[in-house]
Amino acid sequence: MLDEKVLKEYNPYLEVKDGELYLEGVSLKSLAQEFGTPLYVYSASYIRDRIKAYKEAFSGALICYAVKANFNPEVIRVAGEEGAGADIVSGGELLAALKGGIDPAKIVYAGVGKTVPELELAVEKEILMFNVESRDELYVLDEIAGRLGKKARIAIRVNPDVDPKTHPYISTGMKKSKFGVNFETAKEEYRLARELKNLEIVGIHCHIGSQLLDVSPYREAVEKVVGLYRELTEEGFEIRYLDIGGGLGIKYKPEDRGPSPHELAKEVLPLLEGVEAQLILEPGRSITGNAGLLISQVQFLKDKEIKHFIIVDAGMNDLVRPAIYDAYHHVVPVESKGREHIIADIVGPICETGDFLARDRRIEWLERGDYIAVLSAGAYGFAMASHYNVRPRPAEVLIENGSYRLIRKRESYEYILNTI
Ligand SMILES: *Cc1c(COP(=O)(O)O)cnc(C)c1O
Repeated sequence: MLDEKVLKEYNPYLEVKDGELYLEGVSLKSLAQEFGTPLYVYSASYIRDRIKAYKEAFSGALICYAVKANFNPEVIRVAGEEGAGADIVSGGELLAALKGGIDPAKIVYAGVGKTVPELELAVEKEILMFNVESRDELYVLDEIAGRLGKKARIAIRVNPDVDPKTHPYISTGMKKSKFGVNFETAKEEYRLARELKNLEIVGIHCHIGSQLLDVSPYREAVEKVVGLYRELTEEGFEIRYLDIGGGLGIKYKPEDRGPSPHELAKEVLPLLEGVEAQLILEPGRSITGNAGLLISQVQFLKDKEIKHFIIVDAGMNDLVRPAIYDAYHHVVPVESKGREHIIADIVGPICETGDFLARDRRIEWLERGDYIAVLSAGAYGFAMASHYNVRPRPAEVLIENGSYRLIRKRESYEYILNTI
């Protein structure tokens, strides 16, 4: 059941020793016993490798790690140590990025609903660029920058109207989506922004969606954005940054093949001939997704006439992707005991039928007390966790090169139930 070859396609730092699963030389069973479950574990070397792969594929580009995928400041710090900046979508993420040691001069800020306090904080910190999503945001940002005696550097987020062929909830670059503005509106907004004296126009931004397993939609989007770049340049705008967002997909199913940054570069770089601007990328999932696993313990087994259920201690509050996107996550036992295989639903303890990690999944027979590992859980895992059913959010452990450390304690009930 523990097929090392398959596991290594998810994360080359996974190993099987004596039938047991290890990550970067650390036994996942021993971590589960030491820290309890559910437990998120992350491989730092994997995160470093991914940032390096982007930097090699796009030399000279600024890689802004999308903090929303995994906002643990110690995870952000690893990306930052490899030279990454940060892509943020809230004031909280700005604080997470700063706590993770990211230089504000490498932070870009998108989001359709930035509030005044959030904008004030980002203006004070003098971040690299605000990716502005509406006309009103331009006025509000100009007012705040003027009041604080600063200049705010901006890009307009344009919506290239391409279909990224991914889940509709994570498609962001189509006309009907709330994100960005169309090209005609963008040109008007650039002209307007030029009149606002506390704003400095420096870039163009787009982000078309997430979990793209095919890189061709990027070509369509970047072609259009480069067209806009040329028009704006002709009009005398000085566009210093071309920010093409994130969205590269990763392996969730064993048959998926997440495209490499190199494949993305092959698609995109030829389109940038004659473009003087620095490229910015905002990868999230493709940096941390397969760095992380969620470890959970089997509580009960239940056989109903037509189905086996494996009930584990991780629920949709810990990992919500299966419930909201019907997402597939590969699940393996942390320790294979060579037992027969069954087809089962792996479900959590939450009072919702949508609370499952895997459905109709072939998996080795498990018993109460055994541990399972949910793969590809390093992005949009802990970051989307909640307290639903008054469940403390899991602990997080960062592993590197045979050592590990706790980077977030399991929450206490006192913390969740505190009402003032
Ligand atoms: C979510 C998001 C990203 C990151 O997307 P991934 O699919 O995780 O790479 C990048 N930029 C913006 C603006 C986003 O909203």
